[in-house]
Amino acid sequence: MTDLDHLFERIAAGEIPSYRVFEDEHVFAFLDINPLSRGHTLVIPRRRCERLEDLPGEVAAALGRALPRIAAAVIGATGAPAYNVLQNNGRAAGQAIPHVHFHIIPKYPDGSGLPHHWPARTLDRDGAPELARTIAERLT
Ligand code: AMP
Repeated sequence: MTDLDHLFERIAAGEIPSYRVFEDEHVFAFLDINPLSRGHTLVIPRRRCERLEDLPGEVAAALGRALPRIAAAVIGATGAPAYNVLQNNGRAAGQAIPHVHFHIIPKYPDGSGLPHHWPARTLDRDGAPELARTIAERLT
């Protein structure tokens, strides 16, 4: 464990200062200290879970309820015409802090916000049925 592992838990507990925008029993939200754009906000569970799939259902539900409200508030306050919600899992996916966090990132006409780079590929239609079945089996 490093200091970074517990940074967001300590922010949610008020031990480290932040620009808080929302909190309830399970959820805490605050301004990102290095924003991609004005209003860039982080939404976290109070208790540390490293990745999305680790979240207890009750906490996931609380995050799901809070996210649209917080997004609406960010957009209302900033006037940004668009926004992205980003959530990274694993270092290879860009997760620097091992505590689940959703980024709400306003996108402005000047281009500030999440850079749009979407190198889409073509679905492998031969492998798709088996892939879909294998994923679906894990959800039953
Ligand atoms: P990620 O790369 O998805 O793990 O994002 C981590 C985010 O946490 C980055 O956008 C950082 O700017 C942000 N961050 C790191 N430390 C702080 C802090 N003390 N207060 C607010 N945001 C922070």
